[in-house]
Amino acid sequence: MGIMDDDIVKVREATDIVRIISEHVALKRVGRRWSGLCPFHNERSPSFSVNPELGLYHCFGCKESGDAISFVRQTQGLDFVSAVEFLAGKAGITLRYDSKQQGEQSSKKKRAFALVEKALDFYHDRLLSAPDAGPARGYLKSRGYDGDLVRLFKLGWAPDDWDTLAKHLGASDRDLKDAGLGFVNRRGRQQDFHRNRILFPIFDIQGRPIAFGGRKMPDDEGPKYRNTSDECVLYDKSRTLYGLHWAKEDMVRARDNGEAIICEGYTDVHGFHQVGMPRAVATCGTALTEEHVKQLTKFAHRLVLAFDADEAGQSAAERIHQWEQSHGIDVVVANLPEGQDPGDLARSDPDRLREAVEQALPFMQFRLNRVFGAGDFSTPESQARVAQDALLVIRANTNDLVRDKYIMQVADRCGVDPGRLRTMIDDPNLKPSGDDRRRREPAQAAEKPRRRRRGPVRSEDRDTNAIRLLIAEHDRMAPLLAPV
Ligand SMILES: [Zn+2]
Repeated sequence: MGIMDDDIVKVREATDIVRIISEHVALKRVGRRWSGLCPFHNERSPSFSVNPELGLYHCFGCKESGDAISFVRQTQGLDFVSAVEFLAGKAGITLRYDSKQQGEQSSKKKRAFALVEKALDFYHDRLLSAPDAGPARGYLKSRGYDGDLVRLFKLGWAPDDWDTLAKHLGASDRDLKDAGLGFVNRRGRQQDFHRNRILFPIFDIQGRPIAFGGRKMPDDEGPKYRNTSDECVLYDKSRTLYGLHWAKEDMVRARDNGEAIICEGYTDVHGFHQVGMPRAVATCGTALTEEHVKQLTKFAHRLVLAFDADEAGQSAAERIHQWEQSHGIDVVVANLPEGQDPGDLARSDPDRLREAVEQALPFMQFRLNRVFGAGDFSTPESQARVAQDALLVIRANTNDLVRDKYIMQVADRCGVDPGRLRTMIDDPNLKPSGDDRRRREPAQAAEKPRRRRRGPVRSEDRDTNAIRLLIAEHDRMAPLLAPV
């Protein structure tokens, strides 16, 4: 009995080869690689090199080479299955064994890959040349996409029709559905999944297309983005990062320990490419998961969040601080101007976008600044409320030394005794002051393809407020209203 192919791939993907080898060899970073003394022959100067992008090692002295699995086999004297089991254990992956199922699953995937690739070519050609894609081309042009960018990102156009792709592919019902490209409708006919949308192909880490994000035309009804469903055999959004195969090289090169930029949208990733920072990826309509973070740590240990990282709320913040500790990463937040997406900023002010990344703040500092920015420092009572809210932000981080640094800041800003804050921080009765209405928890990790526009006041709040004032303070408000 063998281990299912899928699971071996999963283990390979989940394994940080640098971490595995570091248990035996002291590795030092040299450019994009890691290097150390070879464990397979005796040497004084390091000729053993590890490439985290490819997940491979090679010795220039004795010519030993391989991947994480062969390294474990060699150093621990295990056979292939046991080595995979060892790594699966480290990565927390449960392995499945079945030789018959294994064969079926892998040929199913092979067919799906072939279909998605064929679909990509079809949609891409449509966008480049079909008459019905004219408005889509016009729209993309207005958003700064010239022909080169459209070709680079392989953008496509799904025509406004029921089954153009299905007819082109001529696949079986089952294969069409497995590939996430279509389904059988109530009249028993094959129907395309994507229709009347601009398509952003999503690739796996090796650069193979696995899914599509479909953006509606600006004046159309329906959700702004509609992605290939998770039910297909190739695509799992909680594990997929858009753009990772383009970004990984630049990630490894950036800064000393690698840097990854995390966005919310496909066009944001393209924006970073345009300003010469191709180390950007986007989550595909989900919140950032630990699975995403684990993938990124193979390439970078500084993660720059290029979206409003405060909107997800307190529990998301706690998770991020946990990941900082357990995966040894620094999470920082890009200093973007209020209400601006990286995609927009790349066109309007590219220097400002690069600056936003270079001047990114530690995640905790970013959140504290929000509290300070919204705080009222006019009276001792209101200063105490700011301090209370600030403590709740700091509490999300369990590292005592880091906490202490930030407690000093709060003490300074709010004019309170740091010792008093230290005793208060773990008090279970510590609650938000109520001054700060920002920190409501929205439904966590819900489908949120695009964030709300940030702005000083959201329009529904403004309207509600106006109505409230009209009722409560009619005399004061009436003169301000325009005569009807
Ligand atoms: Zn060697």
